[in-house]
Amino acid sequence: MTPRTLTPAEEAFVALSVHCIECPGCKVDLDRTDEQPECPIAEALYRAWFDIWRKEVRR
Ligand SMILES: [Zn+2]
Repeated sequence: MTPRTLTPAEEAFVALSVHCIECPGCKVDLDRTDEQPECPIAEALYRAWFDIWRKEVRR
């Protein structure tokens, strides 16, 4: 893997991914069929990523 500079959207996406791996509230239980409770931190990170991504796409 060659190191390269991440775009702000990629950085925000990595932050969201890392959170979802490390946060116990975000761990997906595959045996559960009912709605998973929303994690407010994950939602905030997702919204932050989406905002940046949308601006990058508009350029
Ligand atoms: Zn979480």
